[in-house]
Amino acid sequence: MSFVKGLKCRECGQDYPKEPLHVCETCFGPLEVVYDYERIKKALSREKIASRPKSLWRYRELLPIDGEPQAGLYSGFTPLIRAHRLGEALGVKELYLKDDSVNHPTFSYKDRVVSVAISKAIEFGFDTVSCASTGNLANAVAAHAAKAGLTCYVFIPDGLEQGKIIGSAIYGPRTIAIQGNYDDVNRLCSEIADKYGWAFVNVNLRPYYAEGAKTHGFEVAEQLGWKLPKHIVVASAGGTILPKIAKAFKELKHVGLIENDECKIYAAQASGCAPMIQALKKGTDLISPVKPNTIASSIAIGNPADGYYVLQAIKESGGWGESVTDEEILEGIKLLARTEGIFTEPAGGTEVAVTKKLIQQGKIPRDESIVISITGNGYKTLEVVAASVEKPFKISANLKNFDDLYLQLTQPAPGKAMAGEG
Ligand SMILES: *Cc1c(COP(=O)(O)O)cnc(C)c1O
Ligand SMILES: [Zn+2]
Repeated sequence: MSFVKGLKCRECGQDYPKEPLHVCETCFGPLEVVYDYERIKKALSREKIASRPKSLWRYRELLPIDGEPQAGLYSGFTPLIRAHRLGEALGVKELYLKDDSVNHPTFSYKDRVVSVAISKAIEFGFDTVSCASTGNLANAVAAHAAKAGLTCYVFIPDGLEQGKIIGSAIYGPRTIAIQGNYDDVNRLCSEIADKYGWAFVNVNLRPYYAEGAKTHGFEVAEQLGWKLPKHIVVASAGGTILPKIAKAFKELKHVGLIENDECKIYAAQASGCAPMIQALKKGTDLISPVKPNTIASSIAIGNPADGYYVLQAIKESGGWGESVTDEEILEGIKLLARTEGIFTEPAGGTEVAVTKKLIQQGKIPRDESIVISITGNGYKTLEVVAASVEKPFKISANLKNFDDLYLQLTQPAPGKAMAGEG
């Protein structure tokens, strides 16, 4: 029942079998999954998809598994929300949020890629799964591995938020915190993957893993009634999700599920780690690695593995990108929470703040449909916002005390009340 033909090198085109491989032996280019689109076109229809459970596996013909899905049966199909109040605040007519902050079971877009990677790890017969992570990936790998009964090792940079650390540890993996940043973690993991022969979801299973990110794009199209928005803004870190959204839209057109695949795609990065935005603005395809320094830890990747493909996908779509400061990121988090009631982490704050900036710059027009991808959840990163929200007022359980407090809270601000009273 598989629609996968094999793997192919993105650079030189050499074919490879469906195995846990990720780089081309000849040119070191990344390998990508190749499908039999003619057969998929016959097998898949809007009606067939609609009849299936609301999970990312409803697009299974376009995902790289051979048998039945083995993980993530409840992952994906996150809400696409019409954001009237945020739209008003940003001065745009038709705004939506694709809310992966409530993805099952670990509250980020990473549940998508991991569902596919763990399914594939089981198909390949691995008993140990692992990853190099900025936090969310470790959470997802640990949770899905626990559900599948697999041994799990996760590697993260030292100094992540508590929510990200405990959000892995609770599932019982071995967590290894590396002194250094994600790029140091990633380098070490490539060596460990070679030596230990584990299924590293984002190293030796990367071609399969990355395909899971397409489901974010498939769902946006389906949830808009099999149409694409004119613009979509998403955070970019290692460079997986952005080009895979572009691929998803192309595939949907290719197999006849949508008529028009035009949608401008925009990358959001934090100014403290914006190697792709810097390259984009310089007009070069060469990404110079940077040393991350930002509160947006889940997207703090200074040397993005697929950065080149991010730039290609942006340019091909007619999109663009921007970076925002940590202060703007915090404002983005609060703006989203206070207009739409959604609590996102700094990556989501980046997505909101970059959208705001692109609208102000006139790069995204105000009268066309826009989707902002909200890729992670704020309950994991409480410490980044703790100092910038109001503290609770402490009073004793006494009505008079509340009456006094209420009066104080509802009185005009002292500065204003005094004005003109002379
Ligand atoms: C991983 C991640 C991203 C994007 O990462 P890519 O490596 O570019 O796919 C965006 N937001 C959050 C919250 C993430 O965890
Ligand atoms: Zn090659």
